[in-house]
Amino acid sequence: MITIDGSEGEGGGQVLRYSAALALLTGEPFTIRNIRGGRAKPGLMRQHVTALEAACAIGGAECSGLTVGASELTFRPGSVTPGEYHFAVGTAGSTGLVLQTVLVPLMLADAPSRLVIEGGTHAMAAPPFEFLQKTLLPVLERMGPKLSITLERHGFYPRGGGRIVVNIDPSPLRPIECVDRGAFKDGKVEALVAGIPFDIADRELRAARKVLAEWPDEAFAPVQLRAEHGPGNALVLEAEFEHVTEVMSGFGKLGVPAERLAKSAAKRMAGYLASQAFAGPYLQDQLPLPLAMAGRGTFTTVKLSEHTRTAMSLIERFSGRGFRVSETAEGTHLVEVC
Ligand code: ATP
Repeated sequence: MITIDGSEGEGGGQVLRYSAALALLTGEPFTIRNIRGGRAKPGLMRQHVTALEAACAIGGAECSGLTVGASELTFRPGSVTPGEYHFAVGTAGSTGLVLQTVLVPLMLADAPSRLVIEGGTHAMAAPPFEFLQKTLLPVLERMGPKLSITLERHGFYPRGGGRIVVNIDPSPLRPIECVDRGAFKDGKVEALVAGIPFDIADRELRAARKVLAEWPDEAFAPVQLRAEHGPGNALVLEAEFEHVTEVMSGFGKLGVPAERLAKSAAKRMAGYLASQAFAGPYLQDQLPLPLAMAGRGTFTTVKLSEHTRTAMSLIERFSGRGFRVSETAEGTHLVEVC
């Protein structure tokens, strides 16, 4: 039984989700205390409960203490059973983060799975649908499994109600090198608005264009969604390179000016473009787990995030697999499974 202090490292929900995924992959049970102890409002939130319920459902696991607000739980994994599953967060809690918990175990299962996940698809501090579709899944597909994802309905904060469908056709994972992103092919910025004034999209696009001044005018487009998908707003920025497409995003929030969220998302994209890195600030913490399960693999990234360090340290504790991190001549960080 592994004991985890949930306040360590990045100190949030990721510690819990990664631990559950690792328990399913290694068969090691764990107890976690101080769940989300590094957050202003610690303890389990609805989306974390759903993520763990999903892990229990696909992994025949037993989990004691799984209630909203709980700060401690014990998780005992069973065996992973692929199949058809439906998980509903019930709030705008992230569908992508529920997927993050079960994806790698199902990629290594012995038959295909189809997941329907309901909740937020475009909410703060979580991967939006476009990141899953264009950034994460294509990289994971290079390891062998066939993966597809569709967005059936958008889900914005605070209403939620979004719906994604994910198909996973598993295979043994082969090691990959995510070092060279190749030549820049295309850039695109979309401002999504649903049930809110359309001029918000224009203001966001103008602010993003000032930062990404080299991208042509036609790269910036407003997208009006059906009002019943909202109310909500997201700015989604994509940079397509030969070997990876990176997606950055910003999410509208009452009280945050459209220009401010657009400028900060565009600056994140500009920082990534100016680097030579393969993985941006969010893809980097998704790669250590599949690469470790493949037994080998490398990636380069911008500055190493606390989420990535936490991921690597949890993987070492559960699986014994380590990582070597070094700086490259171009100023990126090279992470290698060892
Ligand atoms: P909390 O931080 O409140 O505990 P949490 O469980 O929602 O809640 P984290 O533990 O911070 O969140 O994990 C967030 C995950 O979402 C990380 O894997 C991070 O890389 C990813 N993420 C956050 N923002 C984005 C984004 N804009 N695009 C892609 N991925 C994102």
